Amino acid sequence: MTSASKSQEGTPLVSSVSEENTRLKAKVSALEKKVAHLERKISFQAQSGLPTHFRLEIDLDELIESENAKPGSPGFTVLILQLGQTYSMVRKTLRTSISEWILYQTGCRVNAVLGPEDRVYHTREDEFVLVLRGAKGQDLKKILRRLLSALCEPHVFAGFTVSLPVTSGAAYFPEHGRTRSNLLHYADVAAGSAQERKKSFVLFRPGLLQTVVERVELQNSIIRAIEAPAIRHLGEQFSLVFQPKLIVSDIDGRTLKVERIEAEALIRWNHPTRGPIAPATFIPLAEETGLIEPLGKWLVYQCVRRLSSWHKSGRDDIGLSVNLSPRQFRSGAVEETLAGLIASSKIPERALTVELTETSLFEDAEATTRILQHFAAMGVRISVDDFGTGYSSLSHLHRFPLDEIKIDRLFVENLHESHQDRSIVRSLVGIARDLDLDLIAEGVERPEALRQLYRMGCRGFQGFLLSEPLSDEGLLKFRDRIVRDGMTFRLPSGDTGLSAADADT
Ligand code: C2E
Ligand code: MG
Ligand code: MG
Repeated sequence: MTSASKSQEGTPLVSSVSEENTRLKAKVSALEKKVAHLERKISFQAQSGLPTHFRLEIDLDELIESENAKPGSPGFTVLILQLGQTYSMVRKTLRTSISEWILYQTGCRVNAVLGPEDRVYHTREDEFVLVLRGAKGQDLKKILRRLLSALCEPHVFAGFTVSLPVTSGAAYFPEHGRTRSNLLHYADVAAGSAQERKKSFVLFRPGLLQTVVERVELQNSIIRAIEAPAIRHLGEQFSLVFQPKLIVSDIDGRTLKVERIEAEALIRWNHPTRGPIAPATFIPLAEETGLIEPLGKWLVYQCVRRLSSWHKSGRDDIGLSVNLSPRQFRSGAVEETLAGLIASSKIPERALTVELTETSLFEDAEATTRILQHFAAMGVRISVDDFGTGYSSLSHLHRFPLDEIKIDRLFVENLHESHQDRSIVRSLVGIARDLDLDLIAEGVERPEALRQLYRMGCRGFQGFLLSEPLSDEGLLKFRDRIVRDGMTFRLPSGDTGLSAADADT
C-alpha cells in the first residue's frame, strides 16, 4: 500500500473517531444533566422546597463524623416534628393546593425560628426533622416555645382557617445516641410517646424503649387472643388430604423400588351451602383478603401435628410437604409459627418440606434468599413447586438453599407428544443433578410417562397413577403396604408398554 492511499484511508477513520468522541461527550453531558436533575429531585421536597431524608442522612453522617473529631463539643439535638391527624384530614378533605400551602408555610415558620447553624429537613409528607446545634436543656426549651407557638398559629385561607397541633420528640447527640439510625429512632420513639400522651413534646429517655416493647408485646397478645379461637373453628369447614410422592431407585417391569415415601398436604374446603370448593378458587381469595395468614397458621399447625403423630406411631420415615402461597411465604407469620412448632413437637429435622411456587421465589430475589435461609436454618426442606411455568432463569436457582424441584404437571402431561417438553425436562434433570436437588414429576397419570421420566433421570413421582390425595388413615395404609412389600410399589395394570415417544428418549 502506498503512503498516499494510507493517508486517504486514514482520514475517514480519524474523522469517524473524533465524531464518535463528540457524540460520546454529548451523551455523557446529557447523562450528567439527568443525574444532577434526579439528585435535585430526590434532595428537595417539591411542596416545601426543603431538603429531604436523602440529604438528612448525608448531613447527619457528616455532622457525627465532625463531632467525633472534636471531643468536648456541646453536640446537637435531633428533633422530629409531626403534623398528625389534623393534617391528614385536611389532605383528604380539602384541595391539594391547601395542603401544599400548609407544608410550605410550615417550612417557612420553622426556618424563621432556627439559628444559622441549625437545619430543617422535610422527611415525610407530615414530618419535619430539625438538627439543632448545641440546643439542649433550657436552650432547647426556648427554641421549642418559639417553634410551637409559630406552628400553632392558624393558617388563614379565604373564608376559613386551619389550626394544626404538632407533636414532637427529640434525642441528643452524644448523650442518647452516637449513630444516625439510633438518633432518628430515639427521636421517633419520643415523638410517638408525645402523640400517645397527647403532649406537644417529649425528650427521649431509655425507659421509653421498654414502653415500645411492652406495647408491641401487648399488640401481639391481643391479636393472638382474637385469632386463636377463630383458628380453632377452621377445622369445621377446612380439612387436609395427603397425596403420596415416591422417590424411586429402580424400576422392574411394573414394580418400583421405593427409596423414600413422602406426602403433600392439600387443603380442602367444604362450604356449608355450596359444598366442596377447589383450592385454586379459594386460595387466591384468601391471599387477596389477607386471611391466608390465619389459614396458613392452622395448616402448618395441622401438618406438624399429623407428622408428629405419624412419627410417634413408628412411621418416622414419612416426610410431609406443605404449600405456601406468596403472601404467606413473605409475611413471616408462618416462619414464626413453624419455628415454635418444630421446637416443641420434636419432629426430626428435614421431615417437613415447604413448597413455594417458582414465581413467588423470583419476585424479590434478595428478600427470598433471606427468608429461605431462615427456613433452611430451622432444618425445613425447601421445594420449588410448578417449576417451568414461571419462565425464571434457571441459572439463578443456585442462589437459593433449595432441596427439591417439582416439574409442573403441564410438561409431564405432554411428554409423549411434545419434543419441547422433553427437552425442558431433560434440562431440569441436568440442573437438579448439578445442584444436587431432588426432582419430582407432578401429575403422573400414565405408566409410560413414569418410565420415560425415569429413563430421563427423574427419580421422584407424584400423581394419580401412584395415588389420589388420601385421608390421614389412607396415607398410613398406603405407606404400610409399601413397607410390608419390602419397599416396593406395584403400578396398576393397564400399562400399554413402550410408546413411540418413549423410544425418542
Ligand atoms: P399443587 O401444589 O401443584 O398441587 C398439586 C395439585 O395437582 C393438587 O390439586 C392435586 O390434587 C393435583 N394432582 C395431583 N396429581 C394429579 C394428576 O395426576 N393429574 C392431575 N390432573 N392433577 C393432579 P389441588 O389439591 O386442587 O390443588 C391445586 C393447587 O392449590 C395446588 O397446586 C396448590 O398450589 C394450591 N393448594 C392446595 N392446597 C394448598 C394449601 O394447603 N396451601 C396453599 N397455599 N396452597 C394450596
Ligand atoms: Mg404443591
Ligand atoms: Mg404443583
